[in-house]
Amino acid sequence: MKAGSQCLWQWALRSATILLMGSALFDMSAYAQQRLVRVGIFENAPELHMDNGQPSGILGELLSAVANTEKWTLTPVACEWRDCLEALQEGRIDLMPDVPHSVDRSDLYDFHKVPSLHSWSQMYQHPDERITSVLDLQGKRIVSLAGSVQADYIASLAGSFGIRAQLIGVSDLQEGFAMVADNRADAAVANYYYGELHAAKRGLVATPLMFQPTQLFYATKKGRNIDLLDAIDRNLTEWQGDSESVYFRILQRWGQATPAASVPSSFWWVISSLGLLLVMALGLAALFKAQVNRQTRHLKASETRLNTILDSVDAHIYIKDRQLKYRYGNHQLCEFFGLHAPDLIDRRDDEFLSGTSLSQVRQNDLRVINNGERVALEEQVAKPGGQGVDTFFSIKIPLRDSRGKVEALCGISTNITDHKVTQAAAHRLAYYDPLTELPNRRLLLERMGHALEAVRCGAGIGAVLFVDLDNFKRINDARGHVLGDAVLCGVAQRLKDMVRGVDTVARIGGDEFVILLDHFGRTQEESARIAMTIAESVRAALEQPLIIDGQPYFSGGSIGVTLLRPDGKSTHDVLREADTAMYRAKESGRNRVAFYETSMQTEIEERLALEHDLSLAIGTEQLGMYAQPQYDRNGDIAGAELLIRWEHPTRGSISPSRFIPIAEETGVILRIGDWTLQQACSTLLRLEQAGQHYPLSINVSPRQFRQPDFVSRVREIVLESGAPVHRLIFEVTEGILIEDLQGAIDRMAELSDIGIRFSIDDFGTGYSNLTYLKRLPLYELKIDKSFIHDAPGDPDNTAIVKLILAMAKQLSLRVVAEGVETQAQADFLSALECDAMQGYLFARPIPIARWLDSSHTEPLAKTP
Ligand code: C2E
Ligand code: CA
Ligand code: CA
Repeated sequence: MKAGSQCLWQWALRSATILLMGSALFDMSAYAQQRLVRVGIFENAPELHMDNGQPSGILGELLSAVANTEKWTLTPVACEWRDCLEALQEGRIDLMPDVPHSVDRSDLYDFHKVPSLHSWSQMYQHPDERITSVLDLQGKRIVSLAGSVQADYIASLAGSFGIRAQLIGVSDLQEGFAMVADNRADAAVANYYYGELHAAKRGLVATPLMFQPTQLFYATKKGRNIDLLDAIDRNLTEWQGDSESVYFRILQRWGQATPAASVPSSFWWVISSLGLLLVMALGLAALFKAQVNRQTRHLKASETRLNTILDSVDAHIYIKDRQLKYRYGNHQLCEFFGLHAPDLIDRRDDEFLSGTSLSQVRQNDLRVINNGERVALEEQVAKPGGQGVDTFFSIKIPLRDSRGKVEALCGISTNITDHKVTQAAAHRLAYYDPLTELPNRRLLLERMGHALEAVRCGAGIGAVLFVDLDNFKRINDARGHVLGDAVLCGVAQRLKDMVRGVDTVARIGGDEFVILLDHFGRTQEESARIAMTIAESVRAALEQPLIIDGQPYFSGGSIGVTLLRPDGKSTHDVLREADTAMYRAKESGRNRVAFYETSMQTEIEERLALEHDLSLAIGTEQLGMYAQPQYDRNGDIAGAELLIRWEHPTRGSISPSRFIPIAEETGVILRIGDWTLQQACSTLLRLEQAGQHYPLSINVSPRQFRQPDFVSRVREIVLESGAPVHRLIFEVTEGILIEDLQGAIDRMAELSDIGIRFSIDDFGTGYSNLTYLKRLPLYELKIDKSFIHDAPGDPDNTAIVKLILAMAKQLSLRVVAEGVETQAQADFLSALECDAMQGYLFARPIPIARWLDSSHTEPLAKTP
């Protein structure tokens, strides 16, 4: 403040010097000439007014003095302020006194250079008041001319200091001063000259509050009467430099003190302005200084306190700007990064972090910065220096500017690594068996609950296997707990190795384990079968000795199996079922598998046995090939279908309808398929040798047909045999077309190329979309025996048979009717021109060997 005021003083002195030097350059005597000047006079006492038709007031008299010197004849024209300005512009008057200079006005009017008068507004107060600065206006009643610029100024000044003053507008300043004198108001604002003239008379006292300084000039119309202005400047320059001059005499007469003779008016104007500034500033400074000192002390103390708090919080606290540069970081954060606090500012995480730590933190930060989200989440941050990863729980909030735009984020990240470790340990204790590290009963029941829920929501059916070791107690008692523990761990590992990742192996008691097989089957039968198969392999695995310290131990196990079905049972019910089944397995002699539902048990066991036996039967005498001839309408043999038979050593003859589906599911069908084809080839060769040249049909299963190497496999077998491939007919069902029609077409086309023909077996029962027929390289259709069975008695089936025959004719396909058992059926089919017939009416399937060397290869004696 002090340095600033010194500057102003120097500036004021320099200005004054320049002005004094300028005035010396003029020579006044050179200019004297009579001149008529029309001058506009408006009422603004004491600066200007009309008195007895003559210009009066400070500026009126000053003009008269100039006119006197310059030999002008003045013609005063009375007008209002605005009319005067207008008259001047229109050239009705030549000169107008008392005009404040402004940039706008200088476009319309010319002004002389030396101000004729300096003016400003000032506040005058009741003698009892003590108004020394703006701050003292709090609660005061202040009068000013209504609608004047002073009124506006006071209002905004008070407003900007947050001061409430009561502003009273009056139409006449005389009235305003009277109000202050009568104590109806505390202060009044007036033009300085008015105030100086009237304040003392009313007993009012000037306050140091001055504002709105203006310089007053005489003005002429733009570009006109410049000579008048030059003359005024010349005179003013001379007079203002002489305290004895007419200028100061006029000022004195109108109540103004005479300034020091050597100082030009601009100098005391500057001083006035400085006075205003100083008083205001000092007033304010004095007031604020104490406040600021107090607040600075407070702030410093608060900042220290805040830093102490932030630095002692056991968390990272930070602020990052929109570019994710650190603007603040507490002690903990800096220590984590290995930095001193000032070094953190302006740096970004990419200088300290990398990889997933960096991308994770960045991604979370951007959610706050870009979306204005508040996030609360876990962050994994690799410690700088590569000593492991810490887990933080971070809360990040957006910091917004006054317009609501996010300009930074503030975060607090708490290191929860230790907490996580403890939590994980607690979780392990609560949910896992400490010995085997398998899930315990509690976790098992929880997972069973989820699995049951999923089953109810339509996921596949699951199963529970209850495993109880048969010999554990004996081993434990005889060889001690340490060895017992080793056996349990070995069993646990073995069980885990047997299941998928999604399944659960749990230890729920001493030597009791439970395997939860997550939904895998669509039907109960399928699920039961798979579960039993797995249980069987678990049983077999437990049968194998465990080698501990080089010694074999046989634990063995009994297993109870039940299903997780959508039937509303609880997890405890399911576990009890599996337990019950396990007890049955133990009762029936240990080292067994038992299914909970006994009815299902028999079925499953039988199937499992068949599966097992079938795989052993292939390549033995048990599987045999039969042939069933087909006859044309003339009764001649038109072909034969090869049909497989299984002669089980204990169960006797087993129908292919029973074992072919099992073979399909287990994949054994692939070996059967090869064998069937080989049988067909050798039979064809032998038929050829016997001079028989009709084709042989074999059944190709869907699984076989879909094998990627099916075509090459067929080609290999057929070519190797040397059989007449063009006499081979493959019977396929419509099912092979559903999944991949184009693939099926391609495959059939490839085999057609080597001469193999195709027949659709069981036609009418499957796909029922006939449009594909045109696209397939087909040779024949075999009408399913179910339609033949009821024809010609049943009108529906009769219609279907007729339709198939008509359609086949259209497509030039051969039709074989199978399952023809009665003469009526044969007659009916003959009448419809069916190409060939197959059925018990003509012949039952008979073993190939017999077929080849019997008369069955001869045409039928009886023509149907
Ligand atoms: P499929 O292909 O429809 O075979 C016709 C079935 O009808 C044969 O049953 C046959 O013995 C039987 N059959 C023949 N004439 C009559 C009759 O007049 N009345 C009645 N009710 N049935 C008659 P099979 O031999 O029991 O074969 C059953 C199914 O097993 C076959 O149905 C076929 O799908 C499948 N199959 C048989 N052998 C093979 C084979 O070598 N490979 C493949 N993949 N499947 C075969
Ligand atoms: Ca067939
Ligand atoms: Ca059939």
